[in-house]
Order: sequence, then structure tokens, then C-alpha cells
Amino acid sequence: MLDSSFQPVKNFLPDQYLDSSQFKINHNYLSSQFSDYKEILEELIEVVVTNDFTLGSKVDQFESKFANFHNSRFGIGVGSGTDAIFLSLKALGIGPGDEVITSPFTFFATVGAIATTGAKPVFVDVELDGFNIDISLIESVITSKTRAIVPVHWAGRICNMKEIRALADYHNLVVVEDACHAVAATRDGYFAGQFSDTACFSLHPLKNLNVWGDGGIILTNSEEIASRLRLLRNHGLINRDECVEFAYNSRLDTIQAVIGGHLFKKLPNITQSRITNSMYLDSQLKSVNQLQLNTRQKNIKEVFHLYSFLCKDRDGLQSFLKSEGIDAKIHYPIPLHLQKAARHLNYKVGDLPVSEYISKRVISLPVHEFITKPQLDFMVQMIRKYYGT
Ligand SMILES: *Cc1c(COP(=O)(O)O)cnc(C)c1O
Repeated sequence: MLDSSFQPVKNFLPDQYLDSSQFKINHNYLSSQFSDYKEILEELIEVVVTNDFTLGSKVDQFESKFANFHNSRFGIGVGSGTDAIFLSLKALGIGPGDEVITSPFTFFATVGAIATTGAKPVFVDVELDGFNIDISLIESVITSKTRAIVPVHWAGRICNMKEIRALADYHNLVVVEDACHAVAATRDGYFAGQFSDTACFSLHPLKNLNVWGDGGIILTNSEEIASRLRLLRNHGLINRDECVEFAYNSRLDTIQAVIGGHLFKKLPNITQSRITNSMYLDSQLKSVNQLQLNTRQKNIKEVFHLYSFLCKDRDGLQSFLKSEGIDAKIHYPIPLHLQKAARHLNYKVGDLPVSEYISKRVISLPVHEFITKPQLDFMVQMIRKYYGT
């Protein structure tokens, strides 16, 4: 029982978080993003009073919204972006004895999802410009055991999926896109999911479209893969009493589907702000000789999950920016083939030189929708100050 002194929390978010970005320039912006949390809580009441806690109409609605937006036929909500990749590979029959080609310059989860199916991750180096898998190197690692390619759309810059699809078809491989950075991103007008077997998205709190915890969604144009994924995420059940295959519990929570649906309305604005902020930084930073920015291509709509570039004396620049209150981050300082977890794969320093080169020089600045122009200018000014230019 609540005692009589109980007061409903007025501000939900403690005051000190409400305007933390006044002087500090953070990657984390969740308190600003959900300042309209009361509207969301209203929507959540409906879930509570109808007891619709697992799957149900809210999940269906979110899945169709997300799939329609990305021109895909089916959307399947799952527990996380990691599960989206893992379940996709399982649905496509990947397991022990198989080899799966991917990028060493990615978040751990891409490789974790491959390895936990029992398959062997095989790395292909990335391109210096844009940090995506170098398609011209893929064929050199294809063996009789190769079954799949998992390209990663780094920072929301879509790989050339037409080329990857053609290569995959030629060698009879499946393609699972790690599109966790690539919500709303396009290349030649197509979204992730158009030239692959599945495209996998994360709804983690720091992704471009995010929820209040973990969540993920898979897109596919294949009815067969979609039904298999629906089985795999829900114990292999075809109805309440019949199980056709022992499987997993990895549903997108109904509550998270409501949050996702709510934020979906803001997706155009979120995407546009990231692009505008990044283009502004490009224009201001391109003349700094100590930096190497990625080139931009007109046919690619990058959504800048990260604004990252290469720089001289990276660790020094990062410490300086941090001391000025700018949350510059390193995504990521150790490529996957050199992680302890990968030691059984027997890669060594020098094997994937471009990824290793990038890992030592890459840095990311916050460009989310709550970053202001004065903050962008401040970041530019501090970078110039560090290099004395
Ligand atoms: C975030 C992320 C994932 C995993 O998503 P989760 O929802 O956190 O499981 C996979 N790949 C990449 C590239 C990511 O950034």
C-alpha cells in the first residue's frame, strides 16, 4: 500500500537531466527525446487495461508501419537487433559447419549473432572511404562452406546491395543485412531489405529510431522467411497448443512497439536533423588538414547514426574534446578480428589493414536532433583549436 505521503512523480525525469546539453555536448539525448512522455504513457494505459502484453495489435501495427515505410512486404518485431540477425541466420538454415562473411569494423553484435548460430565468422576488410565492407575482396574468401554474407551499413550508409546480391546469387549465398544503423537510409532510392533475404534493425535507445529498452525488427519480402521468423521468435508455436519446432522467445515487447510507433512520427525529423548537422560539420571541417572526412555520394542518403571521420592524433583530440565538454566517442577502437573473443579464428595484426588503420584514427561527434548550431560551431572551433588552425 502506498502511504499518504506518496506523490506521483511530477517530473519523471530528474531536473538535472532536463537541460544537461546546455554546456555539455552529449551523444545521449534521451531525456530531451522523450520530453513528451506523458502522451506515450497515455497510449500505454491502453496496453495495460487490455492486458495485451505480448504480441497483439500494437506489435502488428508497428511492424506494418515500419515495413511499409521501407517498401518491404513483411516486418517481424523481435527482442533486439542482435536477435534480428541471429534469428534471420537461423531461419535461413545457417549453423555449425557454415561460414558467414562479414565486416570486422562493426559493433560486436554482428559477429556475436553469427558465432552463436555455430557458424564461423569470416572477415573481409572494409573500404577506407565510408568504412563499409570492400565488395571487391569478398570473392577471395568464398569457400565451399560459405553460406551467407552479412554486410553492415556503417553509420547508415547503405552498401552497394545490388552488387552484393549479384555476387551472392552467383555463389548461391544468402544475404542478411545488418541495417541497425540504417533506418530510413537509401541508396539509388532503395532501402535496406530490397536486395537481401532479410534486413535487421535495432531499436536500442541510442539508435536513430529507438524505444525504452531493447527491441529489433526484421524486414523481408519473402512470405516463407517471414512465417519462419514468426515461429522462431515465439517458441515455434502455430497456435496456443501446438509447437512445430523448438525455438526461442524473442518477441518485440508490446510496450516497446507502442513507443516505437510513437517515435516513428518523428523519424523524418530525426533523420533530417542528423543529415543537416552532418552536412554542416562536413562544410566546416573539410578544410582542416588533420582530418579525413568520408566523401559523400549523391545517390546515397546516409542517415548518420554516427558522424565519424579519421583524424591525426586521435586519442589526444578525444581527450581535449572531452575536457571541453564534448562527448567525442570512438566507434570502435578494436576491430572484431583482433578481439579476444575471436582468437580461435586465428587472425593477427596486419590481416585486415584498412580496418586496423581506421580503428586507430576514427572518432565520432554527436549529431542527433537536439544538437544546436552553436554546439556544432563549438565543436568545430575546439577541433581547430586542438590542431592550432
Ligand atoms: C546496435 C547494433 C547491433 C545490435 O543491436 P541491439 O539491438 O543492441 O542488439 C548490431 N549491429 C550493429 C552494427 C549495431 O550498431
